[in-house]
Amino acid sequence: MQREPLRQHPCAIAATYTAKVNAPVTAAHDRLDALLNAAVDAIVLIDPRGHITRFNRAAESLLGYTAAEVLGENVRLLMPAPYRDEHDGYIHRYLHTGEQRIIGIGREVTACRRDGSTLPINLSVGEFRSGEEHGFVGILRDISALHAATREAEALRERLAHAGRLGLMGEMVSGIAHEVNQPLTAIHNYASACRRLLANGNAKPEALAEVLDKIARQAERAGQVIRGLRGMIRAGDATRETVSINALVEEVSRLVELDLRGMPQRLLLDLAPALSPVRVDGVQIQQVVMNLIRNGLEAMRESKTGETVTVETRSDAAQGVEVVVRDQGPGLTAEVAERLFEPFVTTKTKGMGLGLSICKSIMIAHGGELQHRRAPNGGAEFTLRLPAATDEEEPAP
Ligand code: ADP
Repeated sequence: MQREPLRQHPCAIAATYTAKVNAPVTAAHDRLDALLNAAVDAIVLIDPRGHITRFNRAAESLLGYTAAEVLGENVRLLMPAPYRDEHDGYIHRYLHTGEQRIIGIGREVTACRRDGSTLPINLSVGEFRSGEEHGFVGILRDISALHAATREAEALRERLAHAGRLGLMGEMVSGIAHEVNQPLTAIHNYASACRRLLANGNAKPEALAEVLDKIARQAERAGQVIRGLRGMIRAGDATRETVSINALVEEVSRLVELDLRGMPQRLLLDLAPALSPVRVDGVQIQQVVMNLIRNGLEAMRESKTGETVTVETRSDAAQGVEVVVRDQGPGLTAEVAERLFEPFVTTKTKGMGLGLSICKSIMIAHGGELQHRRAPNGGAEFTLRLPAATDEEEPAP
């Protein structure tokens, strides 16, 4: 949409504004001040050059400035870097091209208080024109409490999921114990019977052979239970579908972004175009990528080093795909690196040390692999590889 060009030069409008700000307080201004100051939300008015023309009481208490300190100042003052440097450009582009970057309801942005601290706010901006007055009105709402509540809910969800996983494992373990225990008990009983026959001295070969056959059948049954379990963990071909690895990674990144709101860490995607599709259980591959990203974020948070986890996708020499998850944390100690993919290897007080061993099994079950190496910057770098889907695996059109 092309906007009408400005009829009046911005400097002329600004001069009118400055004159108005300095003009003796009229009854109309008094009324407007009283109205603005009665508002519960912080309200900031700016002129077309971005200079603050009004700053109500709620804005004073939210941002820690008095109106006298900010009137006439560029509104960038209330924004942290890097938004601060971009703001003039937004106003300029809006006024000359109509690009709707600054106008709108309820954008989430970060504001900067007088003491330099920052806070998340919900910002709605409208444009006003009245006579020769022209400017923008911004309504600011503090949403730090909402952010804290969301983070708490996320933490709770995590704890529940963790408890759920533990519960599921407990169930599985007792199931396995039960299933395997039965044939083992039978084997034990048959072996004791054989011993008794031999001890009595009346062990007929046919009778012994019969008991030994029973032992073999029970051992076979125990083997079936174990094979069944492995099959279950591997998840059969039925759950495989041909998908784009980038789409899977993008979906994971949206979930991680939710976790990262209000945190200093960030996730960077570097996705190669035109990669071969892969035939996988999408949810399992996403679990692997999510686990690697979370480990990286956790390592950086704990060590207070670095802030970025990068997820890169690329094709490998055999036209398969690789997903590389790299962090800027301290990396692995040699001791952990040596046994990294073994179950129950953990350095975390609440860790189970199962994440990476499960990730590795999932990758192997997909005909792929998972490897670790130290990133050039010293952090951890995990690479998962998947073969490209072959033509026969493509779903029918
Ligand atoms: P858990 O997170 O439950 O401990 P994992 O199998 O996911 O189990 O990880 C095993 C261990 O490997 C962790 O306890 C940690 O010491 C180490 N580790 C995994 N990823 C990273 C990483 N990105 N940076 C540093 N250490 C890591």
